[in-house]
Amino acid sequence: MKQQITSLPHTGIATFCKAPYVPDLTDLNADVAVIGIPYDEATAMRPGSRQAPRAIRDASTRFGFLGKGVDSNGFYDINRDRKLLSGVSFADCGDVDVIYFDQDRNFDLIYSAVTQILEKEALPVILGGDHSISYPVLRAYEQFGPLRVILIDAHLDYKDNLLGLKYTNNSPFRRAFELSHVEQIISFGIRGIKSTDLELRESRSHGNLVFSNYDVFEQGIAALMHQIPDTVGNYYVSIDIDGLDPAICPGTESPEAEGLTVTQVKQILQHIGSRGRLVGVDLVEVNPYLDPSELTQHMAVQLLIETIATAFDNA
Ligand code: MN
Ligand code: MN
Repeated sequence: MKQQITSLPHTGIATFCKAPYVPDLTDLNADVAVIGIPYDEATAMRPGSRQAPRAIRDASTRFGFLGKGVDSNGFYDINRDRKLLSGVSFADCGDVDVIYFDQDRNFDLIYSAVTQILEKEALPVILGGDHSISYPVLRAYEQFGPLRVILIDAHLDYKDNLLGLKYTNNSPFRRAFELSHVEQIISFGIRGIKSTDLELRESRSHGNLVFSNYDVFEQGIAALMHQIPDTVGNYYVSIDIDGLDPAICPGTESPEAEGLTVTQVKQILQHIGSRGRLVGVDLVEVNPYLDPSELTQHMAVQLLIETIATAFDNA
C-alpha cells in the first residue's frame, strides 16, 4: 500500500506511534528503538501480559505524529511550555521471537536484541511481558556501568528465589543486582504485602534504596531524590504498571491499592533526567485481558512517551 497521507490512528499497521517497522536490527538507524517481548511464563496467577506489546502498540497509534520517521514532529507540553521529542527518530523493531517452555533461549534472544540496539546507539524501549524480562535486558548493559536502576513497582521483586525458581517475576532485581555493572536499585511505590521484610532487609543491606508509597505521599519526590547519591551517571528505568494506582491502571496481574499517580512518576523521571543519562526503559506487567476499558495500555503509552522525552530533553 502506498504511503498514507492522513494516516489516521485507526488505519494501517499498528507499530509503536506508527513508527517505521524495522524488524532486522542490522538495518536500525534511529534514536529510539521500540521492541516487544511478548513473554509471560514467569507469571504465577493471572497470565496475559504476553499480549501487552500488541495492545500497547494499538493504543499508541493515537500518537502517530511521533513516529513518522526521520523527523518526528514531537509534541507540545503545555506545562513546560516547549516542544518535546522534535526531530527524534523512532523505529519499531517488532518482537523478540520467543517460544514457550524455553526460558534460557528466550532470555538469550532478549539479551542479544538489546545488545544489538545498544550497539546501534539507539535508546531501547522495551514493551513487556512480565517483569522477569528486565533481567536479561539489564544483562545487555555491561558497557554502561555503574548503572542505577529506577524501579516503579508495588513489589520489590528482590526474592532470591521462589520455590527454588530464580528467574520468575519475583526476582529480576535480585538477579540484576548480582551483575557487576549494576550499582544500585532505587525503588518507588513499594507496598505489596507479599514483599517480605527479609526481601526489604536484604535489598537495603546491599545498598539499594527502597521508598514505599507512603514515603512518596508524605515526603514527596524531591525530598526522596536528595537521598540518591549526587552522581551524574547512567540510569535505567523499569516501570511495572502495578506501581501505579489500580484505579488508573487496573489491567495487571497483581493490582495493589494506594499506588502512585502518573504525576508522581513524571516527577521521578524529571529528577532523573536532570541528574543523569537515561539509557533505557522497560514497561511491564500490562495485562490487556484484565482491562476491557483499555485504559491501562493507554496510560502505559503516556508513561513511555514521558520517559522517552526525559531521555532527550536537554532544556
Ligand atoms: Mn509489581
Ligand atoms: Mn514487578
